[in-house]
Amino acid sequence: MSASRQPVLGILGGGQLARMLALAAAPLGVNALVVDSAADACAGQVAPLVKADWTDYAALEDFARKVDVVTFDFENVPAETAQWLAERVAVFPNPRALAVAQDRLAEKTLFRECGLATPEFMAVDDRAGLDRALAVVGAPAILKTRRLGYDGKGQFRLKTMADADAAWAALGAQAAKHGLILEAFVPFQRELSVLAVRGRGGDFRTWPLTRNWHVDGVLSMSLAPAPDIDTLQPRATELARTLAERLDYVGVFALELFVQEGELLGNEMAPRVHNSGHWTIEGAHTSQFENHVRAVLGLPLGDTGARGLSAMFNWIGELPGPAPVLRGVDAHWHDYGKPARAGRKVGHATVCAPDAATLAQRLEALGKALGREAQVAPTVEALRRG
Ligand code: AMP
Repeated sequence: MSASRQPVLGILGGGQLARMLALAAAPLGVNALVVDSAADACAGQVAPLVKADWTDYAALEDFARKVDVVTFDFENVPAETAQWLAERVAVFPNPRALAVAQDRLAEKTLFRECGLATPEFMAVDDRAGLDRALAVVGAPAILKTRRLGYDGKGQFRLKTMADADAAWAALGAQAAKHGLILEAFVPFQRELSVLAVRGRGGDFRTWPLTRNWHVDGVLSMSLAPAPDIDTLQPRATELARTLAERLDYVGVFALELFVQEGELLGNEMAPRVHNSGHWTIEGAHTSQFENHVRAVLGLPLGDTGARGLSAMFNWIGELPGPAPVLRGVDAHWHDYGKPARAGRKVGHATVCAPDAATLAQRLEALGKALGREAQVAPTVEALRRG
């Protein structure tokens, strides 16, 4: 990094994660430069944006010359692009870690090698392979694309063996291109994520465990620290550390877990800052965004401790009204500056409180003010149950 100018963080992908990374980088004296194929990508509202696609090597060459380090807002940057950049400039997380996290089969295989149990799974390459996998995995099950699936997209739920034809009709065409995996459906009691960060020198930290609620495969709400933190945190931290060390990972990642009868099962790993860690902006001493910037630039990591309790609501499709609706309601508002569109993450809000009873009250008040009572209900219930 040059001493004569401010360091520049290159970010591949210009969505809300890049936007929040750029906003966290600024107070550290770090400028961001973002690449996205869409000229109106929302990170472009807060940082300079290069419009280029992942195979525009002339634009990427120029980008690599202008930045000190490259990182990702988007994990599906082609592995070849990440590797090509890594030959020119420091890229964190490294392309091998990215490649493992891009492939559900490689990811689950690694989880098992690291001692993290997973739902039963089997690769599916053709229609006969689906029958073979169903015979092993059983039903109910979920057929998923190995690559390029996110937020429940590229998935088909099979209630019984008789759904095999329908599952193949939905996803069979993707078998040749992205590969498929059949996973046992887990009747989990809770979903958790552990947000972790590893620095360039190997320093490793986790934030307190986060409990998550998904609706139709998309994150709806997060609560941190998760109420069952005492029993599960040490094991989750140890697993995240093992994974990070195996991958020589640098930066923030999220490990998504199911809790079934007190045991942790690995669902997936996101090789980047993650939606379930957005609460850390106001709810932790150092946010996931700031620590990611620190990690990839080789700066010391900040304290990952929580300041109290936090709950985060995702706004999907459209914002539930303009920010002034929050007057009198104690919440932190995040508008990503994206046009409304069905299924799209357009913003979030975080509510913080010193204790569970106050947080439950504030959540209920916000849910009511915004007409989102149903969205807050499971989190309020979990807080009241303790
Ligand atoms: P994914 O994109 O794989 O993280 O899936 C999105 C969400 O679908 C998860 O957070 C779960 O709520 C649900 N899901 C995915 N895989 C399974 C599974 N094997 N069993 C039960 N629910 C699942």
